[in-house]
Amino acid sequence: MKIRTYRLTILLLSLQFLFYKQSLAQELNPVVKQFVSVKADTLALTHATVIDGNGGPARTDQTIVIIKGQIMMLGNANKITVPATAKLIDCTGKTIIPGMVMMHEHLFYGERVAPYYLGLAMPFSFPRLYLAGGVTTMRTTGTVEAQTDLNVKKWISAGTMVGPDMDVTAPYVERESLPIPEMIFIKNTEEAAKGVNYWMSMGCTSFKAYMNITKEDLEEVVSIAHKNKLKVTGHLCSITYREAAEIGIDNLEHGFMVSTDFVQDKKENVCASGTQSLMKLDVNSEAMKDLMRFLIAKNVSVTSTLPVFEPYTGREVFPGGGDNAVVAPVKETVEKVYNSFVGKDSASAALFKKEMAWEKQFVDMGGRLMAGVDPTGAGRVIPGYADQHTLELLVEAGFTFPQAVKICSLNAAQYLGREKEMGSIEVGKHADLVLINGDPLKDIKAVRNTETVFKNGIGFDSKKLFESVKGKVGLH
Ligand SMILES: [Zn+2]
Repeated sequence: MKIRTYRLTILLLSLQFLFYKQSLAQELNPVVKQFVSVKADTLALTHATVIDGNGGPARTDQTIVIIKGQIMMLGNANKITVPATAKLIDCTGKTIIPGMVMMHEHLFYGERVAPYYLGLAMPFSFPRLYLAGGVTTMRTTGTVEAQTDLNVKKWISAGTMVGPDMDVTAPYVERESLPIPEMIFIKNTEEAAKGVNYWMSMGCTSFKAYMNITKEDLEEVVSIAHKNKLKVTGHLCSITYREAAEIGIDNLEHGFMVSTDFVQDKKENVCASGTQSLMKLDVNSEAMKDLMRFLIAKNVSVTSTLPVFEPYTGREVFPGGGDNAVVAPVKETVEKVYNSFVGKDSASAALFKKEMAWEKQFVDMGGRLMAGVDPTGAGRVIPGYADQHTLELLVEAGFTFPQAVKICSLNAAQYLGREKEMGSIEVGKHADLVLINGDPLKDIKAVRNTETVFKNGIGFDSKKLFESVKGKVGLH
């Protein structure tokens, strides 16, 4: 009996040692640690203005108590009894919004090198930029290097790389047409299915249909994904929004800007530019409202990607900033292209305004709108900076600031099926928070003054993260 007790004690001790070793292993790596500005078991953010992500009005003079990365108390500062052991951060004059959950992000940067378009993986700079801008969860929405994205996700989770939590989308499902050398092209529906099954087995949890596929390809992708309780989005062209909704797609990218539903005599399964037809369409068009009603009835969410469509005239070269983040020769090229369009983009500027109005109509009708920045296009969109700017653009589109916040947090958490754990500031949820110095309700530009981004209660220094990748975008 005694021997048994002794053995049990040894076993327990070695188990304890194992756990001790494990908890040490989960300590943050020095590469990550250098950006951590707040870390405490018990933390109280006091006297803040809170916009909780549910879309309702802001609440002033709030205190949030965080214990081991979880929100444990939230309410009026004078009603909350802060635990004696808590580290206090006075947030007077500051605003807290939920960590952003952004749905059209990439870990690659688009560069036009005629006649090609390159998707250059940015596994070093982009994760830091997203987190710096307040993004605590992101979906990559198509990839040219799924293995890179999967490793980045794994290393971020392990605490050896800094960045947001990731929902990794498999390589684009696309047939050969675009001059993008990094892209995997499928030849037939069978290959689409093969790709989905393979990347699912490797850990991808979302799928993206692209511009040149057939309805049969999409049916196959949706059917496999849904059987595995995963979701499919699309930046479509050969398939209309209505056709995709009928097939059962879950999400459509780029607002209504890439809809080919209004192209006259559109051939089935063939990509056609929809831009002219959308320019002609009235902003209050019944046909568009009909399409919106159909999408809502079919439970299709829409992702707004306003930064990548931002006009040139009277706008920033890099929407939301980020000039310093870009390596010099790339910055020069982007500026040259920008300058060539200034004063000549009235048609696309008008369409941009219409797109904003359509997004507002969609939400007013009951549709679920989410958002992302899409760092491709003409190379103007820089992660992090553009994520902050997305809030500005949604407010420009007519949403209240709390509504804009909800589009960039809770709506996406609900789509991902993770709203019980994150997406809003509520007791019991992860402490994913963005601490902003200032009041975006009074001056929306305050969103650019992000001070600290809390991910699971650990505070990251936004400015230090931005600083660390100066001149790196376009390089790595
Ligand atoms: Zn994209």
